[in-house]
Amino acid sequence: MKPVCVFCGNPPKNKNKEHIFPQWLLKLTGYDQKKVSVGSNWKTGEEFIFNSKAYTFPSCKICNDKFGKIEARVKPIFDKLMADQDVSVTDLELLLDWFDKVRISAWLGVKYMNKDVFGFDSRYYVNSRVGLKDRYLSITNTYKEEQKLNWSGVNTIAFMLSPTAFSLRVNNLVFVNCSSDFVVSKQLGFPYVVCEIPTPDKHTTDMQFAMPTKRVVKKMFKTHTYSPKIEIAQPIYKVTIGDLVEYYYHDYVRDNSYEEGIGKIFVSHGDGFAAVERDQVVSFSRAEPKHMFGHVEVVRPIIELQIELVLSKTRNLKNLSLSQKRDEKKGKKVIIDSLVETMNQYRY
Ligand SMILES: [Zn+2]
Repeated sequence: MKPVCVFCGNPPKNKNKEHIFPQWLLKLTGYDQKKVSVGSNWKTGEEFIFNSKAYTFPSCKICNDKFGKIEARVKPIFDKLMADQDVSVTDLELLLDWFDKVRISAWLGVKYMNKDVFGFDSRYYVNSRVGLKDRYLSITNTYKEEQKLNWSGVNTIAFMLSPTAFSLRVNNLVFVNCSSDFVVSKQLGFPYVVCEIPTPDKHTTDMQFAMPTKRVVKKMFKTHTYSPKIEIAQPIYKVTIGDLVEYYYHDYVRDNSYEEGIGKIFVSHGDGFAAVERDQVVSFSRAEPKHMFGHVEVVRPIIELQIELVLSKTRNLKNLSLSQKRDEKKGKKVIIDSLVETMNQYRY
């Protein structure tokens, strides 16, 4: 198997190594000298333990340098978040880009190491998933003085099929990150998908869309993840606008976008989402008195969110044959059963 660049998916030009966990993050969490579990073998259940510094992917020099510029700007954002300091909206957009990259890298990593199970016919690489779909991030400060670096939710069947949601702990911060088509659009009043209509004869999945509701919800997801938390969400419709101009040429969408295709960042401090401008800053000082977290559950919340996301998709099966319908239902059941099993297995 020929190596491909983690960013662009082509054979790497002037081959470099891209660290999945950047050096600054390893230093910050004390993991520059430690080994870290990055997933497990789907056949044997054995964990993949890596010397974190050696957990790298091939990449082109030019792709690597380009992302290196983002990395350099992300470290100061983490410093601010750890200390509950204000963060500018442009920095929050950058942070969302960074999470897109880490989430896709985690997915490529587990998939790559399990290539005998999944094969390695990756449909997308980092560049094809940064800043192109709706995205969401919740940030919780645990106020625990500890050094931590781990991710959760990347070793599930749902994540392998679609790397939509995972969580990341970095010292006293717990993040829940999620990105996929339209995952926050409806909640933020943007045009959204009412249902998907798979049509195998035409090799397509048609979508039935709805006009913007212009209403913003108070709660993004039903799943109770971590609280208190500060949440940021951004609808992105660069790609989807193509065939759907009539849905997007709408005052509400225009008023709530930075530019065509890129919705504004919406922030919630627990009291509902409101759009913020690019030249604003977002306060991360907490209104409620700081309280120390007890035990931080790492697995349950993210698995529950993955279940919610799988179940939230409405699909109209009218164009499927009886056996295709059966397969569709069976497939969904396999995913949910496996997530429930994971949740029961790791009661923490
Ligand atoms: Zn490349």
